[in-house]
Amino acid sequence: MKNNDDICDLLERLSTLFRNEVRQAGLVHGLHPVHLEVLFYLNKCNKFSDTPAAVKDFLGATKGTTSKSITLLETKGYVVKKQDTKDKRVYHLSLTEAGRQIAADNMPPMSLRAALTRCSDSETSPLKQQLESLLVDIQTATSSLSFGLCKTCRFHLAKNNTAFFCELTGEDLPSQYGELICREHTLKSLCE
Ligand code: SF4
Repeated sequence: MKNNDDICDLLERLSTLFRNEVRQAGLVHGLHPVHLEVLFYLNKCNKFSDTPAAVKDFLGATKGTTSKSITLLETKGYVVKKQDTKDKRVYHLSLTEAGRQIAADNMPPMSLRAALTRCSDSETSPLKQQLESLLVDIQTATSSLSFGLCKTCRFHLAKNNTAFFCELTGEDLPSQYGELICREHTLKSLCE
């Protein structure tokens, strides 16, 4: 029988190094890793996914933990909460310039960015495919939301160079939205 312990050990070491670097980066700003994850998420999510409930789902944390993290980030001036103009029960979160800067500077960690930059396209391309496949497999097995890039969603219909149509929400959206992550993202491979 195939033994995959070596691969599991490598992934474990990588994730530990990743977490350690994020923790160190957060300490400078008085933040825990979970706070940086919230900043990272809000820096990358689209307008359908910027609610406290979506943050909770992304983190896989409890409502209480998520709420405390958001409150701390608001207090520190990194996150702003605004009530929805149509549904008063819903709040949207956005980053201040300071919050956006912390997210952009620290996630992903510098060492990972540098290591990937040193790889050639012929090295990163198969790595990306294999990691995507592993991720999809685990998300399916654990019934987790994919939170994938919009441009890879089954509802993303390209129209032209500047816009696409979202079949789920029925909205025309600017093509830059394709690079954002979405709570409603649905993997093509699971539906086709
Ligand atoms: S196409 Fe998919 S990922 Fe993009 S906005 Fe619509 S539901 Fe979200």
